[in-house]
Amino acid sequence: MALSGLEIYKLLPQTNCKECGFPTCLAFAMKLAAKQVSLSDCPYVSDEAKMKLEAASTPPIQLVEIKGEDSEVKVGNETVLFRHEKTFYHKPGIFLRLKDTEDLETLKSKVAQVEAFHVDYVGINLFLDGFAIEAASGDAATFKSAISAVRSLSKKPLIFITSTAELAKAGAEASDGTRPLIHAANKENWEAMANVAKEAGLPLVARAENLDDLADLTQKIKGVGVEQIVLDPSVKGYKDSLETLTTLRRLALKKTFRPLGFPIISFPGSNEGVDETLLAAEHIAKYGGLIVLEDFNPASLYALLVLRQNIYTDPQKPIQVLPGVYEINSPDKNSPLLVTTNFSITYFSVANEVEGSGWPGWLLVADAEGMSVLTAWAAGKFDAERIAKDAKTHNVEDKVAHRRIIIPGHVAVISGELEEELPGWEIMVGPREAVDITSYLNAMWQK
Ligand code: SF4
Repeated sequence: MALSGLEIYKLLPQTNCKECGFPTCLAFAMKLAAKQVSLSDCPYVSDEAKMKLEAASTPPIQLVEIKGEDSEVKVGNETVLFRHEKTFYHKPGIFLRLKDTEDLETLKSKVAQVEAFHVDYVGINLFLDGFAIEAASGDAATFKSAISAVRSLSKKPLIFITSTAELAKAGAEASDGTRPLIHAANKENWEAMANVAKEAGLPLVARAENLDDLADLTQKIKGVGVEQIVLDPSVKGYKDSLETLTTLRRLALKKTFRPLGFPIISFPGSNEGVDETLLAAEHIAKYGGLIVLEDFNPASLYALLVLRQNIYTDPQKPIQVLPGVYEINSPDKNSPLLVTTNFSITYFSVANEVEGSGWPGWLLVADAEGMSVLTAWAAGKFDAERIAKDAKTHNVEDKVAHRRIIIPGHVAVISGELEEELPGWEIMVGPREAVDITSYLNAMWQK
């Protein structure tokens, strides 16, 4: 049972020494109760108090790590139901299901396709996280061959799908140097599967048809000594998914119900009459930890990866590009000089339009603390003084022979002040929208 802030406060030293970064022990206790800080931030908690505080300091959703040869997927450790309450920490891992009954060349060709696929989204490289290999053949040697074939082309994390301990063991033997996830223990096989996972030090999925059975199963698996557990609640369709995954998250966070305090794996494409992409999108939003897709469809995957990126971006830390002067289409000293802010989406919108216009250009990206043009202007982070300062810091005078700078149309109001800050420069007011840059340059800039 979680402790309240006041209950936690009674167990703290109450010296208000501030070493934890908070002005009082009570403030720290409140943050600890909200699971927003770690107990280890206070160096003076007694051993006895530490034991009592464990319930308040242990993450309500266990962190689970799956490791490939050169990357890993971490899921769990979430502390809030809604992103705006704080942030979501670990984005769901997206995996592609493969079957060992496919011939090795087909398997390899699918893996090669996935390895070659990536999305460049506002300067961030997005890709599929790994493969879930199903031992559909029921044969250990065939399963091992499929794993070797996948590993010969990919170093990504793996999930092994099998319901027998013998095949789980074969998978563990073929995964040296990595840490795959085994799917799944159920009420029939749990003891043997848990023993394989314990011996190999691997995380294990618990699968059951209802939450009571699932909670019972995780406790049995923990009893064997497996700490890293993932839940498969066998969800079916949109409504059942939403209800079940939300209930699981609420039980873990609001009730601190440890038997179900684990990340969730889902198989959206295995549901009849359901659109896999749509259900996967639902699971990204609420509250999938690992999502296994049946089909590799680049168009759908693009949408899912961008959705995931947007949801799992910390709203308090905007995605930024480095301030500076960027060259587009090999500009020279006569090329136009435009200015914008360092919010990634703003930068890429403007840069892409200039590139698409065919005009060579210089783009001065001002340090607006990652805000878009209007937001930054309203917050006083994109004013004449700051633009002039960045123009000088990044030596725009040395880049161009002319003395004309194009500011975004949305901040036309600062053109007079900027003229004062940049004596000798002509301030040109550009279009309000990036999409109008081509027509603006064609009309206003002389080659
Ligand atoms: S470090 Fe510990 S004793 Fe000091 S103020 Fe924080 S909670 Fe209190």
